[in-house]
Amino acid sequence: MTAITIALSKGRIFEDTAPLLRAAGIEVLDDPEASRKLILATNRDHVRLIIVRASDVPTYVQYGAADMGIAGKDVLLEHGGAGLYQPLDLNIARCRMMVATPEGFDYESAVRQGARLRIATKYVQTAREHFAAKGVHVDLIKLYGSMELAPLVGLADAIVDLVSSGNTLKANHLKAVEEIMPISSRLIINQAALKLKRNVIQPVLDAFSAAIEK
Ligand code: ATP
Ligand code: MG
Repeated sequence: MTAITIALSKGRIFEDTAPLLRAAGIEVLDDPEASRKLILATNRDHVRLIIVRASDVPTYVQYGAADMGIAGKDVLLEHGGAGLYQPLDLNIARCRMMVATPEGFDYESAVRQGARLRIATKYVQTAREHFAAKGVHVDLIKLYGSMELAPLVGLADAIVDLVSSGNTLKANHLKAVEEIMPISSRLIINQAALKLKRNVIQPVLDAFSAAIEK
């Protein structure tokens, strides 16, 4: 049978994907949190998983090193989606892309007055488009994590980051001031693989589609 490789990140995406894989008859044989293996076998001889950084999932699928994968909309917008077919919103790993500022900062009036804002974020493309659409001038500062720190030490006026409970913002005396978009994870498929391996990929796609929580 044609073999397929599925790219996933560990943590919340793996946890939320395991039930969907199970619905497709695929059981993962190793626990990625416990094991150091980066290639995980499944109960189906022709299906294997690879564990990569969340932001690297689209790259593995784009180049066909993985036939399919699961990636957040946040990551897909930064990647651009070249070479990827995105047939399904899986409605997992849900959160919101938000603008956040220090509690004492008056974002509305800064925007109204046409102030130039310094924005720290991992999501430079998404942030650039958001502020351009609003007509707000920004200097974007690219960070790779812990964005919440930036306004506290004077690196930025505001951040663009993912928010779910809001607890991290609160713990750092920040507040969400604007929603940019809701975020969830999508199934992505290499466009060539979909044509060449349709016999294996389509049943997985159908099972995921039937198992999605609306
Ligand atoms: P890394 O930790 O490897 O640098 P990451 O922080 O992007 O990368 P995760 O924290 O595992 O990786 O997040 C993976 C995906 O889960 C994100 O791309 C996003 O779509 C989603 N996600 C991130 N933060 C949250 C959150 N607070 N609540 C729900 N989903 C989230
Ligand atoms: Mg993380």
